[in-house]
Amino acid sequence: MSDEIRRARSNVASLHGELVRYGLVVWTAGNVAERVPGADLFVIKPSGVDYDELTPSAMICCDLLGNVIPGSEGSELSPSSDTAAHAYVYRTMPEVGGVVHTHSTYATAWAARGEAIPCVITGMADEFGGEIPVGPFAVIGDDSIGRGIVATLSGHRSRAVLMRNHGVFTIGKNASDAVKAAVMCEDVARTVHIARQGGDLVPIPPEIVGRLFDRYQNVYGQQSAEGGRADARTDRS
Ligand SMILES: [Zn+2]
Repeated sequence: MSDEIRRARSNVASLHGELVRYGLVVWTAGNVAERVPGADLFVIKPSGVDYDELTPSAMICCDLLGNVIPGSEGSELSPSSDTAAHAYVYRTMPEVGGVVHTHSTYATAWAARGEAIPCVITGMADEFGGEIPVGPFAVIGDDSIGRGIVATLSGHRSRAVLMRNHGVFTIGKNASDAVKAAVMCEDVARTVHIARQGGDLVPIPPEIVGRLFDRYQNVYGQQSAEGGRADARTDRS
């Protein structure tokens, strides 16, 4: 178990660098968390700490109610103010292994209008299987953000939700997958925003969206040595 926790600390610490690299965060906003496989635990960043100081030992280990594990490494720091939202998602969506939150500019602009991003480019059909939906307005401090994420994404193909007047939450089978969804969400939010400045958007017929999504999720990528598909969601190139 300690190996799994160590691995999650290392993943979560380094993936915060990806949020910076892709320009998804400013100052100390945004966070990445990952479930510890085989345990009712997850690892998340501390609150209000500079991105340059997010080392593996500064990451915080919490139970699925969002309580910091007493005496664990990093437990002297306060966890991210979004910890309750992450905990709610891990508690109620057992298939989710990673959650990411950002206020990335273009996606948050759609959230500020309360407008879903329509599926008008094939890369978006591949990645999200349709529109990126809007979740309810919810304020920080209890389960309400988590409840809004789960209510919006349960049964939806999209791994990203635009929380109204707030920002983006993404889910994935692990933290890397959720970071990828956050990067791709901002990319499509920007492209579709720019497209609309030039004229009307042209929708992709739903049956084609379904076919593209299915192909990308199941066929795209490299055949692995074991005969299964390599992971299209995290290895796209
Ligand atoms: Zn936020």
